[in-house]
This record gives sequence, structure tokens and C-alpha cells, in this order.
Amino acid sequence: MHRTALRRPSHPTRTTAGRRLLIAGSITVAAALGLTACGTASGALQPSGSTSSTSSTSSTDSTSAAASGTATGAPQQPTGTGAATSAPTPGSDAAGSGTGHAAPPAGSTPHQAATPATSGRTQAAGTPAPPAPPAPPAHPGSATKVISSTASGGRTVALTFDDGPGPATGQILDLLAQYHVKATFCEIGQNAAANPALVKRVLAEGHRLCDHSVHHPQPFEKLPHDKAVYEIGAARDMIVKAGGPGTRIDWFRAPGGGFNADNEHIAADLGMDSLGWSVDPRDWSRPGVPAIVSAVQKQLKPGGVILMHDGGGDRSQSVAALKQLLPWLVSQGYTFDFPAA
Ligand SMILES: [Zn+2]
Repeated sequence: MHRTALRRPSHPTRTTAGRRLLIAGSITVAAALGLTACGTASGALQPSGSTSSTSSTSSTDSTSAAASGTATGAPQQPTGTGAATSAPTPGSDAAGSGTGHAAPPAGSTPHQAATPATSGRTQAAGTPAPPAPPAPPAHPGSATKVISSTASGGRTVALTFDDGPGPATGQILDLLAQYHVKATFCEIGQNAAANPALVKRVLAEGHRLCDHSVHHPQPFEKLPHDKAVYEIGAARDMIVKAGGPGTRIDWFRAPGGGFNADNEHIAADLGMDSLGWSVDPRDWSRPGVPAIVSAVQKQLKPGGVILMHDGGGDRSQSVAALKQLLPWLVSQGYTFDFPAA
């Protein structure tokens, strides 16, 4: 909570013209494909091997950001051209299976010194050179940490909302205002670009922002380095542009929790910490309001970070669940915080 604004991206200004082309193309492709939210219809939970949960609170049984959505197929490529009109709502394919929640396994997954996913380097093929040593990782050194606890610890909780801004964002903001709660919004770049007024409202009401990639490709941890750079960096630019001058983005959350050492370092280079969660009610899958509420009630421990969604399709269950959860959290003595950084 007492975060100082000490981190400014040291990233040099990059070429924007080319990126804009990529963005426009990406949005079109994304719209055509229909994106998945933090999970998909299959709803399988996949431990994300390279995630870590570094809890600053001793009591937090922080499950790492393990809800890796199962993407169907390869990550979308930022190819093609075309005009971006309105951003699609990811996750609309999530079946309302009503099968209830499936809480991620408890316990933390140590962050392995993961080899960065494909580094994106292109090898000069065919040159009869002596065997070269393996290419160094894009970011030498160990992986960073993925945050899954609140800044202050103690009996605090951090609410985070992913995949917006979208049609439900206003209702969620209304509820948060009613309870004087500040939350963190992990926004998809193209949605921010399509809904700048909502980004501005999020900021005006004291909430904070998190970069959730341009168009939510999954599995995010499989993206080549170049594409991860694009997804993270361009989304950041889009959200900042939507929010206006001075917009601050403290965190990056990989779609589906697909963190790896490479994307964590890309985010860090842009001044953002990697943000996981410790409580996942899988609201994106629309398991029913009681299932969402009870999952949070069962999984939450002091200092926890709750993952919910304000975008990615019909979020009426998320809104209804939040309506019950806010007074419950207050009744349990929780105060609201931002994630650690
Ligand atoms: Zn997401």
C-alpha cells in the first residue's frame, strides 16, 4: 500500500509506428478468433510450472497463479491488417457448465529457475560454424517473483479483476464505491483502447491498473520472446494512452497465469511486478453465484489476492457474487489493500 513511485520504466522508447500496425492487426485477428479468458471452456487447471508464489505474509497459503487456461491452439499472431473497431470480449466461450468450482491445489509452486521460453533468437541456419555454446537466456539470472499476497499483510485482501474493461466494469466499480473498496484491474490492452472512459474512471476512483497483455493469447508462457515483448509492452502503452498522462501501471499479470522467467523480466524491465493470485473462484467459467462465493470463502486467507473478472463475456455471476462477497469480507474483518509490489 505504501508504495513509492520509484519505478519508472527505463525502457527506451520503441518504435511505435510498426507497433500500431501490429496492434491493429492483432485486434482483428483476436476478434475473429474469439479469445479465451483466464481459462477456457474446458476449464482444466494446469499448474503453471514456472510460477512462483512469494508471499510476504507467513500465513498466506498462497497458491501460485496456477490457473493456466488451456488455450486451444497456437497463440494468435499479430498479423494481418484491418481496422480495429471494438474489442472482443475474451472468454465468451467459457461454458456455463455449472459444474462448480475447482479450486486450484493448495500449496505453492516454487519458482524454478526456468529457462526462458523460446528466446526468439533466430539462428543463422546452415552456416558451417563450429558448434556454438547455447544461447544465453534472454534475461540472464534467476526468475523474478510472482506476487500473490497483499502489500500490507495481516487481515487484508486484494481484489483483482481481469480481462476488462468491459460492460460489467461499471457495475463492479459501483459496488466497490458502495463499500469504499479499492481494487486492481488487470486490463487487456485492446479493451482499454476501446473503452478509455472506463480506464479513466478506474483511475479516478482510486483503483490501480495492471497490464494483462494486448489480446490475451494463451498459453502465454509459450509465446516466443518477441511476441511476449509485444503483448506486454504494447498493452502497457494502450492502457496508458487510454488512462491519460501520468497513468501508472504497477503490475503485469500473464493471461492464464502463464508466467515464465522471460515474460516476468520483460514486465520488470517496464517497471511492472508480476502479479499472480491466491484465490481463484473461477468466475470466468460461470459456475454459479454460490460456487463463486463459497470458493472465495474457502480459499481466502489473510493477505490473499482474489482473482475475479470484469471482462471476458457475461459477468453477471461475477457481479452478483461480488455483491455478496463485499459485505462478507467486511464482516470477517478484512480490510482492502493492493497487491504487494
Ligand atoms: Zn485473463
